[in-house]
Amino acid sequence: MGDVLILGAGIGGLSTALLLARDGHQVTVVERDKASPPADPEQAWSDWDRQGVNQFRMPHYMLPRWRQLMQTELPDVLDDLRKSGAVEPNPLEYLPPRHSGGWRDGDERFATVTARRPVVESVLARAAQNEPDVSLRRGVAVRAVRTGTPARAGVPHVTGVVTDSGEQLSADLVVDASGRRSALPALLAGAGARPGTEQREDCGFVYQTRHFRARPGGAAPQVTAPLVQNYAGLTILTLPADNNTWAVAFVTSARDKELRALRNERAWAAALHTFPLAAHWADAEPISGVQVMAGIEDRIRRYVVDDAPTVTGVLPVADAWACTNPSLGRGSSIGLLHACALRDMLGASPPGDPVALALRWAEVTRTEVEPWYQLTVDYDRHRLAEVDAHREGRIYRTDDPGWARTKALANAAGRYPDVLRGVLDISALLATPQEVLDRPGIAERLDPAAESRMLPGPDRAQLLAAVC
Ligand SMILES: Cc1cc2nc3c(=O)[nH]c(=O)nc-3n(C[C@H](O)[C@H](O)[C@H](O)COP(=O)(O)OP(=O)(O)OC[C@H]3O[C@@H](n4cnc5c(N)ncnc54)[C@H](O)[C@@H]3O)c2cc1C
Repeated sequence: MGDVLILGAGIGGLSTALLLARDGHQVTVVERDKASPPADPEQAWSDWDRQGVNQFRMPHYMLPRWRQLMQTELPDVLDDLRKSGAVEPNPLEYLPPRHSGGWRDGDERFATVTARRPVVESVLARAAQNEPDVSLRRGVAVRAVRTGTPARAGVPHVTGVVTDSGEQLSADLVVDASGRRSALPALLAGAGARPGTEQREDCGFVYQTRHFRARPGGAAPQVTAPLVQNYAGLTILTLPADNNTWAVAFVTSARDKELRALRNERAWAAALHTFPLAAHWADAEPISGVQVMAGIEDRIRRYVVDDAPTVTGVLPVADAWACTNPSLGRGSSIGLLHACALRDMLGASPPGDPVALALRWAEVTRTEVEPWYQLTVDYDRHRLAEVDAHREGRIYRTDDPGWARTKALANAAGRYPDVLRGVLDISALLATPQEVLDRPGIAERLDPAAESRMLPGPDRAQLLAAVC
């Protein structure tokens, strides 16, 4: 394989660049943002100017699946992340033995390696900068695609890009890793491509996040409860990160006007104080104000329609292909899975016929990665409906057996260590719900009629009294 041009140097683009370069490709990455990452993790957090990624300073947690893939595929990068101060939490280490059943062989799979987003990305960027077959060019924005002789009549064949300075770059293959706000559909329309398909909806959640650091001489909080705490009317994320830092986020429904008060630091702190399993996470030095992010979309794009490609020569990866509400923390892991699938596909069948390549990529994406997207979107829809129903004083009911199964698994996880491990496998992106249900001894432990077990916390009136 010859030259690959990657658009975007976010987590997905950088991982793809490293994987492809180490598999024998010559890779150029172009990134719109000018600034290179500072070497020091604290400066990466406070100073690195990354306008191109809206969520750059929002909470990020890397899942065990991401850690496993990094350990196999890019172990030196993972080591560098550890040296930069990443932490390696494993829920089986903090859960009391009466819940976990004690440590078992295989429980090490639930460990991850995680850090604040700017730290993770700066480590990946450093690896890409030092990789002999990667050329990383910052401050270069793509504004058009170049096309050559079509492999199929009426289907533009992308042969490179035009940058904002007018420079023309060519490649044997262009990979779009330009994230949630990828402009590829517009660029392709400009080249005469018929539209691909897109499903898009506002996921309906709002994030209100603060980051903290342990006080001098102190330590990060004890993890005594799930990192994702689902309450009736909102979710709280408590996410350990590098160098004695962490993030705490309220995830609320965008329709919940009263909880918009959580944008205010005083209301945010008062609200957290009412949740006994989360309150201690704010007993520290804040290193950010309340960062708010709303309007986050679940969105998937396909460039093969009715079994025919709308374009050849360009393939989307990671968020440029599909992105979801991040409360399950899956984006980077799904992106890395996708990048590995691209590397494997190109290794097994180097592009000769661009039409065959486009069709093959659509098929690999659909079968190997898209199921994770669909499961995540399904979860989001039900969870949002559940949160909204609570605010309206209703109990959420649905005929979807998938949601009943999710709730039954969560309930039984508190009682049965095997089910607990199944639920952790699902949240770690290590197994689908169906794979867990197919394990011996799981389905018979589920009681769909059981009342949901709620974590201790305020009722709505108490919560509103705290924030007002
Ligand atoms: C609030 C929030 C919280 C999240 N939390 C988590 C989490 O806990 N765990 C997790 O795994 N994931 C999380 N995610 C998802 C994660 O951030 C994304 O999956 C990940 O950033 C995708 O990486 P990417 O490289 O595809 O895109 P991005 O990281 O968005 O990078 C795209 C890059 O392309 C560049 N670019 C765009 N257009 C152009 C152009 N025309 N020319 C050149 N460059 C261009 C941009 O500047 C940017 O650098 C979260 C997302 C959000 C919104």
